[in-house]
Amino acid sequence: MSNPRAGELPFPESLCHRCAAPPRYIRTNTSVFILCPIVPEKYPRQPVRECPWFRPRPQS
Ligand code: SF4
Repeated sequence: MSNPRAGELPFPESLCHRCAAPPRYIRTNTSVFILCPIVPEKYPRQPVRECPWFRPRPQS
């Protein structure tokens, strides 16, 4: 499951949720982490409000 419902996502205001990177959602028993395939730190500090790699995800 890499695309949970929006209501379940951490930091709903994060740019990552709307990014074409695309980020992956890593679930543990207690948390959902946002793994970015582009940024060097892999787990960007959330919520991401500005990102030089951000590209809008095409609307489906
Ligand atoms: S490129 Fe930036 S905005 Fe996009 S998923 Fe990675 S950290 Fe988030």
